[in-house]
Amino acid sequence: HNPILEVNHLKKYFDIRGGVLGKKVGEVKAVDDISFTVNPGEILGIVGESGCGKSTTGKSILRLIEPTDGEVKFEGQDVTKLNAESMRKLRRDMQIIFQDPYASLNPRHTVEKIISEPLLVHGMSKLERKARVKELLEVVGLSSYHASRYPHQFSGGQRQRIGIARALANNPKLIICDEPVSALDVSVQSQILNLMENLRNQFNLTYVFIAHDLSVVKHISDRVGVMYLGRLVELTEKDKLYDEPKHPYTKALLSAVPVPDPDVEKERIILQGDVPSPSNPPSGCAFHTRCPVAMEICKQVRPEFEPVEVNHFVACHLYNETAQ
Ligand code: SF4
Ligand code: MG
Repeated sequence: HNPILEVNHLKKYFDIRGGVLGKKVGEVKAVDDISFTVNPGEILGIVGESGCGKSTTGKSILRLIEPTDGEVKFEGQDVTKLNAESMRKLRRDMQIIFQDPYASLNPRHTVEKIISEPLLVHGMSKLERKARVKELLEVVGLSSYHASRYPHQFSGGQRQRIGIARALANNPKLIICDEPVSALDVSVQSQILNLMENLRNQFNLTYVFIAHDLSVVKHISDRVGVMYLGRLVELTEKDKLYDEPKHPYTKALLSAVPVPDPDVEKERIILQGDVPSPSNPPSGCAFHTRCPVAMEICKQVRPEFEPVEVNHFVACHLYNETAQ
């Protein structure tokens, strides 16, 4: 099967402006040449620390921010080349769910109005819209009597259900989920994750699931990509990534996750120093300033993001024989 989403050499650089004239004085390479594909019906997790560029990647895919360079192919069509009208049509197929549902729901609108807003494009009658809102509320585990209420009358978890209902209104194919459970209590997180997984199965949805929390991503994803300083450093099937990580950064991240079983001994890899600024990223491998096994070549040459086995991509000179 063909991928539903293909991201090729995506870049998003933000200008840094300074002085009274606001002249460009530098740039932040928030996303710096990343490529990946997502298959229909798949949940691709993207994980990394805050500021690694994962949200910028999600927003660039939908062109909520304009990519600086690269291709974003949705069902074979490069969305970066579409005009505003075609993009508007395509936005029905590609939706986004945000971290903070409260900030993304208009506090002065009823739930009915919030969920039915995306339906206005169809020329549905008021009655048809009402019926669709009822259906959507039930699909996300709420009831039709919630329709006349306002966002502040709901808990965080319920608000995220409303956000999900709105995203589902136009039967999308792909949903970018940007930290959808990060603002929720741990007990509510798993309810929302289970709901999202069920919805994926029920409606054959595809998700790009962005989060900083490794256990959340592990819970829901089929494959997982790890980002560091605007770059993808590793991407493979979920179990492979968690059981046999290859990139030194992935190994360090995973070593910091507490193990539930106290009998399992785990060596914690402590990384030295802070994440460097994306406005002045290190040369070569961007991780070389903190990598416990960095080599001379790592300072000079940027490692390619390449398969080291079938379906296992890693950007690290350790796995490239000609580099050593
Ligand atoms: Fe470490 Fe070098 Fe691999 Fe980068 S390329 S992760 S610095 S070994
Ligand atoms: Mg973010």
